[in-house]
Amino acid sequence: MKAIRVHEFGEPEVMRLEAVPDLQPGPGQVVVRIQAAGVNPVDTYIRAGLYARKPGLPYTPGVDAAGIVESVGAGVDRWRPGARVYVAGSESGTYAEQALCAESQVHPLPEKVSFAQGAAVGVPYATAYRALFQRARAVPGETVLVHGASGGVGIASVQLARAAGLTVIGTAGSEKGRELVAAEGAHHVLDHRAPDSLARLMELTGGRGVDVIVEMLANVNLGHDLTILALGGRVVVVGSRGPVEINPREAMSREADIAGMVLWNAPPAELGRIHRALVAGLENGTLRPVVGREMPLAEAPRAHRAVMEPGAYGKIVLVP
Ligand code: NAP
Repeated sequence: MKAIRVHEFGEPEVMRLEAVPDLQPGPGQVVVRIQAAGVNPVDTYIRAGLYARKPGLPYTPGVDAAGIVESVGAGVDRWRPGARVYVAGSESGTYAEQALCAESQVHPLPEKVSFAQGAAVGVPYATAYRALFQRARAVPGETVLVHGASGGVGIASVQLARAAGLTVIGTAGSEKGRELVAAEGAHHVLDHRAPDSLARLMELTGGRGVDVIVEMLANVNLGHDLTILALGGRVVVVGSRGPVEINPREAMSREADIAGMVLWNAPPAELGRIHRALVAGLENGTLRPVVGREMPLAEAPRAHRAVMEPGAYGKIVLVP
């Protein structure tokens, strides 16, 4: 089979399409024939050698994918060859024609969800769910700001929050992104590049502020976020690309909480609950992953540059 291989950490061009041996499932494992693989920002940090978790070299990048179960190992009773699935993590990497997964990393993909959409589920939707409901403990009737709503985690957060009965304010940096955020269910949409966006948010909430913020770029926004929280508000730091200065008094006066999260830290039982909820949402149509761009697997280097550019529009997926 063909797979993207990385022999040294570095620029996107270190990713090359190569022929590698076909994968065989061991006990408790599933081999999935991949139809589409999701591109996440974390894939670029790992490839550059900048991430805390470094795989042994050479390796195949990618966490997310969707496809068809090809073969199962001894003791696997949940899956049979031919099942449509999405993959959230694997033991072999997903930028490839096949992925080797533990049984628990494979989840059912309803017929009405395309493989490209399935490849957009794993990291973005699980992160959004954990941020909103396990870290921020958002409840119906509250107001959430999805700060950076046009990308993978952002669109997932908007759809999940809307379906759960929250009032949703989403931001994007481009007109096209703002249209998408509105179409996917945000009640209000703001431009995170506009200097008056936080003042407008306070107007929208009648001066009260928001209960929850799902923050995609904390190094830019965290200090300001604390000033637009309602009493008892919570900020979940999902993304941050550097340090930031905050005024702790803003948190004190609001009895506000700042919660960090990294999806890999979710205990197995909580991860299991997350995927149960996501599969239910995919089945009933409240979760509709948005694929902005599909690219051939060989163009992984171009996809890595694109995912780090401004003007996000849903997900980028690679097609083997
Ligand atoms: P993505 O698809 O590339 O989207 C990035 C988002 O950030 C876009 O909506 C973008 O908006 C927005 N953004 C850009 N400038 C911003 C600003 N000044 N203020 C607010 N938002 C801004 O990436 P993603 O997959 O959604 O991931 C988002 C971030 O979360 C990344 O840093 C990623 O590494 C991180 N992440 C963390 C976890 C975790 O477990 N903690 C899991 C998944 C992702 P425009 O392009 O419209 O400006």
